[in-house]
Amino acid sequence: MEILIQIVFLILPLIIAIYNLDVFYGNEDTKTKVKKLSIRVLMILLLIGLNFQFGELIGRKDMALIGAVSGTVFLVFLLLICEFTKIGMKLYDNYTLTKILNDKNQIEEVKDVNNLGFTINYKEDLIFYNWQNVTSIKLKSHFAEKRTIKTIGLSFRFSDSKKKLNINNHFTNFYYLLRNIPNGYDLMDYNFVESLFKNLKTCSFCGLVSYYNGRCLNCICSLDFWTEEQKEDYPTIEDYIKEEQLELFATYSRSEIFNEFKMISLSFEQDKNWKPLVSKQQVLQYSKENCW
Ligand SMILES: [Zn+2]
Repeated sequence: MEILIQIVFLILPLIIAIYNLDVFYGNEDTKTKVKKLSIRVLMILLLIGLNFQFGELIGRKDMALIGAVSGTVFLVFLLLICEFTKIGMKLYDNYTLTKILNDKNQIEEVKDVNNLGFTINYKEDLIFYNWQNVTSIKLKSHFAEKRTIKTIGLSFRFSDSKKKLNINNHFTNFYYLLRNIPNGYDLMDYNFVESLFKNLKTCSFCGLVSYYNGRCLNCICSLDFWTEEQKEDYPTIEDYIKEEQLELFATYSRSEIFNEFKMISLSFEQDKNWKPLVSKQQVLQYSKENCW
């Protein structure tokens, strides 16, 4: 029993240490990374400490302490199980991961923006915010290579509440809200917003005018994702675009009506000259084989 517990105490820190490596590759900001890392380092130190103490505890047959140690082990296991249930996500590349995150957050949506205020759908609640009560709006953005937008968000402060409201690009129609922020908020970076919408190009994948610095703000596809590895499966860029379009325009049940390659978006306009590289028949065949 003693040996078994000592082995567990030795293996657990090892697992956590290996698992820590993933923190460096995550998409979180530095603050979150440091926080996660410190919690895990503390956990490792605690386990190593307990490992040294355990032999002594057994010797004293101190049941209360043994109970406490077993409780800690159980808790650590529970935490690890929670962490490891996300393991499947790590198998995806960043791009697919972003897509999953976006799909998961579909309940976070900007429903409407008008002269009076804006309405969001958050966890199935419709909430209206009046512009009159908005005292400040701040734009927060993080960029990846080539100034590709990683995350972008708006932070609102109100006169009738101390609570801040943060809305980021995981919200559906986020860019619709962004382009309709009224003038006159001192902290708001209107120049960035203006330059963003002025520099949008047509996305080869979805056909909306939403391609910014090498990535589509609507479908998150990018010509840069056609890497050497991808080239093995899709020798030409057209092959790659076709594959992405099959996925983008796929229907998820036999009864779902095909959108005729028209993306519904409040944020971006459709380029009328854009033509998909796949046919409706190919999309439906793909949907039947992969999604229905
Ligand atoms: Zn797109």
